[in-house]
Parts: sequence; C-alpha cells; structure tokens
Amino acid sequence: MGTDKPLNLLDLDRKAMERYFVSLGAKPFHGRNVFKWIHKHGVTDFDRMTDLSKRLRAQLRESAEVRLPEVVLEKPSADGTVKWVMELDDGQRVETVWIPDGRRSTVCVSSQVGCALDCAFCSTARQGFNRNLAVGEIVGQLWHATRIMQRPPTNVVLMGMGEPLANFEPVVSALDIMQDDLAYMLSKYRVTVSTSGIVPNLYRLREVSDVSLAVSLHAPDNGLRDELVPINRKYPLESLIPACRDFIRGDKRRKITWEYVMLDGVNDSIAHAKALIRLLEGTPSKINLIPFNPFPGSPYRSSPPERIAAFRQRLLRAGIMTIVRKTRGDDIDAACGQLVGRVRDRSGRALARLRVAADGRGVR
Ligand code: SAH
Repeated sequence: MGTDKPLNLLDLDRKAMERYFVSLGAKPFHGRNVFKWIHKHGVTDFDRMTDLSKRLRAQLRESAEVRLPEVVLEKPSADGTVKWVMELDDGQRVETVWIPDGRRSTVCVSSQVGCALDCAFCSTARQGFNRNLAVGEIVGQLWHATRIMQRPPTNVVLMGMGEPLANFEPVVSALDIMQDDLAYMLSKYRVTVSTSGIVPNLYRLREVSDVSLAVSLHAPDNGLRDELVPINRKYPLESLIPACRDFIRGDKRRKITWEYVMLDGVNDSIAHAKALIRLLEGTPSKINLIPFNPFPGSPYRSSPPERIAAFRQRLLRAGIMTIVRKTRGDDIDAACGQLVGRVRDRSGRALARLRVAADGRGVR
C-alpha cells in the first residue's frame, strides 16, 4: 500500500478498526459503528454515518477513506451466474463471480492478481503472479457483490484468482470480516478457503481461523500431482494429507472437501479412483469432481460424462461422499480455472494477450 494515500478503512478488520479509533482519541465502539456502516449498510461516506459527531467525521475525512475496487465490467451468464471484473488502484484487475443456486448464493472471491503456482490446467496460471491483494481489495469484492445483488451471499469461497494461503495475513483478516456479526455474518461452514496445499500455512490457518477447507488434489499419487499441481514437489502428499487431517481434528461435523478436476485420459481411470480411495482412507472427506473447463490454448480435454459417472460410482461405493460440480457461467468464462482479469503478460504466452483484447472490449 502506498504510504502517501489516506488509510483505507476497508483494510481494517473489527479489531484493527477499534485500535484505529482509539488512536484518534475516540472510543472502540465508534470503530465498531463505522465498521458496521461500511459492511452492513454499505455506507462509505462519513457524512452519512449519522451516529458520529461532526468532529469525528471531520477527523476521519482528514486521515482516512473507504477505497473500493471499481467494477469495470459486469457479465451476466444465461444460467444466472454473474462475473465482475474489478479494477484496483494501480490498474490491476481481478475477477469475482456470483453463483446463485436455489436458495444458496455463493460469491467466488480472488485473493491475488495472477498466481505463482503454475497448475497445468488453470488459465490464471498463464498470467504468472503479479501481486497480493490487500484486505480491502478482497473484502471489496464481497462489498460490491452484496450491493449489486442487494443482499449478502449465503456462502463465500476463496476460489477465484490466486492462492489464498500464499497471501496469508490479508486473507485471514478478510475471513474475519466475512464472519463478523457486524459485517457479513457468515458462519464457519459457509466460508471456504481453497488451497493447492501450502502445508505450513495450513497449520498456521488452523491456529487463527475456523473456516472450511477445500484442497485442490487432482491426483492420487505424487508422480502425477507433481505434474498437475507443481507445488506438490515442495509439499508432497505425505505432508499434505496429515496437515489436512489436523485441520479438522476435534470437529466431528467437519470434512475436507477435495477438488479433483477430471482430465481426459490423465487422472480419470478406475485405477486412479482406487488409489484415491486408499489415499483418503481415515480422513473425513467429500470429493468434488470438476469437469475440466477448457480455455484457449489449454492442453487438456474434460473426461466424458460416462467416465466421470463411473469414477464417482467407484468413490461412492467406497463410502465417500462425491458430487460432480456443475459447470456454471462457462459462457462468460466464469467457470473454475477460467478467471483471467487483466493480464500483465509475464509468461509471454500468446493466450494472455488474446484474452486482454476479448475482455477489454467496451471497458473504457
Ligand atoms: N489456488 C486455489 C484456489 C483457486 S482455483 C486452489 O488451488 O485451490 C479453484 C479450483 O478450480 C481449484 O481446485 C483449481 O484446481 C480448479 N481449476 C483450475 N483450473 C481449472 C479448470 N480449467 N477447470 C476446472 N477446474 C479448474
């Protein structure tokens, strides 16, 4: 964050907000009031925060502001999914997706601009890593979604662009704000962090947060996982699985959600299913099979539906709760692994430039 800019109150979780108000000579409850104005009521103009004294409002105007990302593009899908492209202070862009499903509505939030992990089947990976998002840039996505849809979502998943556990502190503060009664009021079962498995940070997360965990597994053995999810070379399955077990220890209602992208001829055989069953034995698990979502230049195809169904049947027979994730918003490139945002082309691959042209049309 630039030091010349006023403090962005969107970067502060409740505790930080209280501390800030104390530093102004006000009371912690003033901080709580402002926190509630911003997140619960969507008010960002200090003059509309009617329970603050004129003096305090003037003080705030001098030292702080509520700086939101700017929604520069809204793309509605035929299936009700909505994707937003949000532009940050420095012109970087990230994507956020609203996914309605009956009574449930899930917001998929980004945690970084780009991603450093280089998973073989993910389009975000193609743009390389640009930078971490600040707390306010993560929560700002939820703030906008809540205002635009005129209601808070019932669920939030950190499954957009980036690896949440590689942006640890800001993500933890953002999770606190999502769960806060004065803000978005989401329970621990309704906020999910999805990670490719940064093992030390899984242990750290357990100490500071009680959110739900989804882990991008995608392969039942190290050989294949090394290839698909290269962070596996650093944190292989024999360190990942115990860390996940440890994460849910002590809460009998909890399961780890394993994400498994179905790649034609790569990881989708019955032998892979059997190996997966062995791997997860003893770990309370739910498996989400995700049909691969193609993007321009992607080297894979999705497994055919029959093979996905057979794979699922094998897991179900072993007693593992398994669903096939519906592909949502693929007509607007909003499906898993299709989020691109603004591409500062670091990888030098042609795909990146192509997508800027497609996404940038009609935007300023
Ligand atoms: N970095 C985090 C969260 C972002 S991705 C993680 O790895 O979990 C959210 C999910 O979408 C992950 O399981 C990811 O592996 C999956 N995904 C990525 N690209 C995909 C694609 N093209 N098709 C289907 N799923 C994909």
